Amino acid sequence: MQGSPEVAVLRLGHRPGRDERMTTHVGLTARALGADCVLFERTAAGAEETAAEVTDRFGGPFEAQVTDSPGTVLREWEGAICHLTMYGLPIEDVETEIRTTHRENPLLVVVGAEKVAFSVYERADWNLGVTNQPHSEVAALAVFLDRLFEGRELSREWKNASRRVVPETTGKTVESVEE
Ligand code: SAM
Repeated sequence: MQGSPEVAVLRLGHRPGRDERMTTHVGLTARALGADCVLFERTAAGAEETAAEVTDRFGGPFEAQVTDSPGTVLREWEGAICHLTMYGLPIEDVETEIRTTHRENPLLVVVGAEKVAFSVYERADWNLGVTNQPHSEVAALAVFLDRLFEGRELSREWKNASRRVVPETTGKTVESVEE
């Protein structure tokens, strides 16, 4: 988010057909809740396109990319790495340490689709659970980003948008933006 070191989200794995909506929603959630960038595996190129289209319409800055080698991304990441997993330490026990580290360092947030290789658990600085109950990568990512930014992402400013939703009690108004 503006004013803090980069936060990138790495979506590990993608089963074409089965994971389409989940992978797309990882990208949209990363963007809406303050990450700077999402990285998908090549098989999830449709999710990259959707995130880019939404950014074109509703603003950024936000980058969506595909990678042929998530392993290289993990190996070469210069910063801290947080892997979201139901087996990890409770978020409430490690969030302060993560926020402190992130003040000075970029952060890579890793979420899986199916079983995540043990090498990822070893590479991560934190294996973190949003509860130790099984649920969803989208839910875990949303709670994690909100805790990381302590709610500031909810009122962030969007740049270069061509459309803006007008908040209202009833109705669905989207207006054009003149910049
Ligand atoms: N069974 C898979 C495994 O062993 O890794 C988990 C699949 S789960 C449907 C997909 C992803 O959701 C996980 O890789 C993890 O990133 C995320 N996830 C699910 N529950 C979570 C939790 N309680 N806390 C943090 N992340 C969670």
